[in-house]
Amino acid sequence: RDRNALNFSGGPGALPASVLAAAEQAMIEVPDVGLSILGISHRSDWFAEVVAETENNIRRLLGLPDTHAVLFLQGGATLQFSMIPMTLLRGSGRTADYLRTGYWSAKSIPPARLEGRVRLLWDGEPGRFRALPEVAALPYCEDAAYFHYVSNETVEGLQFHRIAGLDTVPRVCDMSSDFLSRPFDPSRFDLIYAHAQKNLGPAGVTVVILRPELLDQMPDQLPPQLPPVLDYRAHLKARSIYNTPPVFAIYVVMLVTRWLLHQIGGLQAMARINQRKAARLYQVIDKSQGFYRGWAPGAHRSEMNVVFNLATPELEAAFLRQSSEAGFSGLQGHRSLGGIRASIYNAVTESAVETLADFMQDFAGPRG
Ligand code: PMP
Repeated sequence: RDRNALNFSGGPGALPASVLAAAEQAMIEVPDVGLSILGISHRSDWFAEVVAETENNIRRLLGLPDTHAVLFLQGGATLQFSMIPMTLLRGSGRTADYLRTGYWSAKSIPPARLEGRVRLLWDGEPGRFRALPEVAALPYCEDAAYFHYVSNETVEGLQFHRIAGLDTVPRVCDMSSDFLSRPFDPSRFDLIYAHAQKNLGPAGVTVVILRPELLDQMPDQLPPQLPPVLDYRAHLKARSIYNTPPVFAIYVVMLVTRWLLHQIGGLQAMARINQRKAARLYQVIDKSQGFYRGWAPGAHRSEMNVVFNLATPELEAAFLRQSSEAGFSGLQGHRSLGGIRASIYNAVTESAVETLADFMQDFAGPRG
């Protein structure tokens, strides 16, 4: 069996087979350049074009207006947990509003507290992060410095299917695990960030989309504690080549965005495929008469991470062992939660999901 084809890893996740083949070739020799991608200067015209095409592809996929800039940064989504409050909260005298809806949004909050006051509009931990709030019913504050949430909680498999926040407060969103999996209105966001290693490419690059106007409130002179490499303005000015960027990772993001545009046909088409994939697995869970127990309730189930338990840890271990023997990878739940997690990012095919659904039904026996 092709193990790449049955990779359900939570991240770094599966990439399209055609992208892997092109990346393999680039490792030895990039067509038109005649050099390995690992040895091409980030100051070359060729690489400037790669950055420009990747940005344009993302703009086309999202319908991104000119009010918003696209940056390719390093440090993962985790660095954004700090860069955002350093930029928008430090010295503002205001409060930042956060939703604490799962493992990753919980991680985003302590770095913000280092920079200023943080208010939780919702804390799902007492409910063991098993549900999301209704976005219309949250106690938003009109003069918050910004509002931050995570659109898809990768660990728990909880996804917002509506945009949270107020249109009058800067809206900041960690879309690391569902960016480019479905269309949305990017003009309603002031800052979006997504690391590449779910739907976009390899680890090493993080896409940040922001409205530069948001930075106008910052003083011209940086606070002395803010290193220039952490200043969005430095990266904007340098068009993402402030220092040596991850050339290979950005190249692969370009290949993946080409695949989305030309092979898949855009985000509407991608979303339809992703919906069918998720529905197939949830159907197996729902029809199993409690053999499989979904973590998230129906309304907030993720179309990217299908998280479930079996009756006992022993049964879960047997499931993982047998699935691995059958060629599946990455099904082990996150280390903080245990259980099973099937991550069905863009590159996981419908046929791979069908194979997993069949395996789950067989494993459950007559109840499946
Ligand atoms: N946010 C979300 C939603 C994530 O899923 C993850 C990691 N899986 C992170 C942030 C942390 O990302 P990184 O490891 O790139 O810093």
